[in-house]
Amino acid sequence: MATRECHAYAEWGFSPDDRPGVPVVIFHIECTSCHERPAEASDDGTPQQTWALDHTGRNPDHQGFKLNTETFWRVEPRRDNPYAEIRP
Ligand SMILES: [Zn+2]
Repeated sequence: MATRECHAYAEWGFSPDDRPGVPVVIFHIECTSCHERPAEASDDGTPQQTWALDHTGRNPDHQGFKLNTETFWRVEPRRDNPYAEIRP
């Protein structure tokens, strides 16, 4: 009994998602003493800096913060990939 296999090869790329409306980065911050976080994240680190300074102003012994960044990426078909014809 013979088994026949067919393999196809298609190129895919992985790159930052630069579509309109997709933020480049989102910042999240958390106090490492009490784990409090501001209500909202932002795509500009300024509100996180202001929140950290205010937080330490209200709690002088809370001086450590964890700043996390979130970025958005996509896997998309390369030009010769048959899926390149299909757009979501
Ligand atoms: Zn705190």
